[in-house]
Amino acid sequence: MDLPTIAEVRLPASRADLAALSETVIPLGGGTWLFSEPQNHLTGLVDLMTLGWTPWERRTDGGLSVAATCTMAELTRIPATDGWWALPLFRECAESLLQSFKVWNTATVGGNIATALAAGALIGLGGALDAELVIWTPDGSERRQLVADFVVDQRVTTIQPGEVVRSIEFPAAAMAATTAFRRIALSPLGRAGTVLAARSDLDGAVVLCITGGTSRPEVIRFPGLPEAEELAAAVAAVPTWFTDAHGAADWRQGVSGLLAEEIRQELARSASTRSERTQ
Ligand SMILES: Cc1cc2nc3c(=O)[nH]c(=O)nc-3n(C[C@H](O)[C@H](O)[C@H](O)COP(=O)(O)OP(=O)(O)OC[C@H]3O[C@@H](n4cnc5c(N)ncnc54)[C@H](O)[C@@H]3O)c2cc1C
Repeated sequence: MDLPTIAEVRLPASRADLAALSETVIPLGGGTWLFSEPQNHLTGLVDLMTLGWTPWERRTDGGLSVAATCTMAELTRIPATDGWWALPLFRECAESLLQSFKVWNTATVGGNIATALAAGALIGLGGALDAELVIWTPDGSERRQLVADFVVDQRVTTIQPGEVVRSIEFPAAAMAATTAFRRIALSPLGRAGTVLAARSDLDGAVVLCITGGTSRPEVIRFPGLPEAEELAAAVAAVPTWFTDAHGAADWRQGVSGLLAEEIRQELARSASTRSERTQ
């Protein structure tokens, strides 16, 4: 779609060039959402892709740092690496966004999270793995925030004019976790009704993140594998189920309970396989 109010698209070469950002001049990632609907409040874009950030890097502490400009395709091509048991969750979450090959090769990690759709494919990933955003602020410094805290409602984040998501940091402990994933939609190719992404840490702690059917990411934590009743009660207590064309709130709540129980059983099986492997 043409964006007729855009007078200029800047091609930054360094961080200094991001000073052009304002309330009406905003970052451009892959453009797959920005160019999909009118943006009449905007006068300019700053194309982050020209900054040439390395898509992803292994941190010295064993964690993973993903640039905001890393595309969906690049994210799912991170090779299996010793200690990164959580990698399958990256593909599962990325594929929960139904998309053409053009979107797959163009949409960025930062753009997906910053768009803050309830069905934000990588918001669930970040929530389940306690990923932290590194956000560049206009004064030249940075702030850090968990993905689950960054998204506060549908299409609402904590980002301020002039700020840019620089990267998403996945801690080494979360990358070493075993994971499980469930998604359901009202139709085979429909937008997600609910998405559940979970991890089980080496110390047994379990983290479940629900998106898609909730207006913000809901992260539920257990010190160990919960009993079925404990898990069901925790899912039922989530306060932010909503109704739209992709599902009714009560359906989303009910089916999430069923899928959470499937995840609980899968994580129990993974934990026993893992302990056999390490003995
Ligand atoms: C028809 C349709 C259906 C969709 N369905 C889904 C879906 O089911 N699930 C889902 O997850 N997504 C869905 N999306 C949206 C999807 O999130 C985006 O297409 C894509 O992931 C956004 O990435 P992008 O790089 O193209 O972002 P852009 O389009 O470039 O930017 C999107 C927003 O993010 C901001 N932004 C981009 N990068 C940064 C950054 N580094 N720092 C700060 N702000 C930034 C932009 O300023 C803009 O506000 C859908 C989009 C369309 C058009």
